[in-house]
Amino acid sequence: NQSLHEFDPDVAEAVDAELRRQQSTLEMIASENFAPAAVLQAQGSVLTNKYAEGYPGRRYYGGCEYVDVIEQLAIDRVKELFGAQAANVQPHSGAQANAAAMFALLKPGDTILGLDLAHGGHLTHGMKINFSGKLYKVAPYHVDAATGLVDMAEVEALAKEHRPQLIVAGWSAYPRQLDFAEFRRIADEVGAYLMVDMAHFAGLVAAGLHPSPVPYAHVVTTTTHKTLGGPRGGVILSTAELAKKINSAVFPGQQGGPLEHVIAAKAVAFKAAATDEFRDRQARTLEGAQLLAERLSAPDLAQAGISVLSGGTDVHLVLVDLRDSALDGQQAEDRLHEVGITVNRNAVPNDPRPPMVTSGLRIGTPALATRGFGEDDFREVADIIAAVLTASPSFPEEERAPLRARVTALADRYPLYA
Ligand code: PLP
Repeated sequence: NQSLHEFDPDVAEAVDAELRRQQSTLEMIASENFAPAAVLQAQGSVLTNKYAEGYPGRRYYGGCEYVDVIEQLAIDRVKELFGAQAANVQPHSGAQANAAAMFALLKPGDTILGLDLAHGGHLTHGMKINFSGKLYKVAPYHVDAATGLVDMAEVEALAKEHRPQLIVAGWSAYPRQLDFAEFRRIADEVGAYLMVDMAHFAGLVAAGLHPSPVPYAHVVTTTTHKTLGGPRGGVILSTAELAKKINSAVFPGQQGGPLEHVIAAKAVAFKAAATDEFRDRQARTLEGAQLLAERLSAPDLAQAGISVLSGGTDVHLVLVDLRDSALDGQQAEDRLHEVGITVNRNAVPNDPRPPMVTSGLRIGTPALATRGFGEDDFREVADIIAAVLTASPSFPEEERAPLRARVTALADRYPLYA
């Protein structure tokens, strides 16, 4: 019964170093967040020891009386949170949730429509070497080059041409809201299922700050660790009619034993997501992203060839367009890293630079909002980012140091896991 530090100092020290990294830098990767202590505690509990193949009340293992309570709490809470008829909380991740949902609704060789990866879609929405691109025929749809918005006329035309069995609506890098009603109308017209992957914006939906896909989609998938701020994992919401198909697609279709420690942490996160504190946090997330979009659209940035895709944001992230900038995505990411701001470079639609370099940045505000950042703090962050992106080409230490100091001051103002 030695502690981690006693038994395995190598791992313990790296964990400690990661904690210090999270505490001392500004985390702006749009898909990341800080799970509350109660979530970490549930996830680090003895539930990790338990096998529980099956579902509450119908397990293939003995001794499931307490994990049944926990999994049922998670199911009931997430149904209530999103107004869904049915929920499966067992998918180990967002990718697993999508794999299981497709496994439930499709046969190999069926056709799906999904947003092209290079236009903001996710790997599991039909990328060539992902399971979704290998098992199914894929007709990708795109964003309009002029507006940066999903081209719904193209979605309809592709649907009529390819008669897909499934239309996937959702994204990993897109700064606007999708028109779920229009997606459903098109799906109905061609007899397809509509699946919405709300992994990125689920927290905003829970807070009532983004339209809910639940009334429109046959199936809604999500992760629990992005804007939702819970443990890493996935969830599938569906109509009551599809619940049985979804459950058997998850287990035994795709997975064995559920991660009950993670499911406990999901239950805690769903409880947190129903609070006023959570709604306030999501409101600051959105406000922060909008302030950032505004700052990065200002004339000094435009002069440096930098702008914001679609001209702003309705969600928790901003996509910076560097196609006309001397700075590429890799250099911009590295520069921000040097001052203590973590973001990821991201291809923009019709990106002229290679995928490992890119001409874009994806910058998100959920983690900083969780830390407590408000309007003034986000203005300061936006100013720092603008200064980094417009600094001299060599980004000398005399320009870097004061920016790093401003980042440290912000990080110190909001202690994390103190
Ligand atoms: N769906 C979307 C829209 C995502 O952005 C992601 C992750 O980035 C996933 C699914 C996959 O989630 P996970 O990384 O948990 O497999």
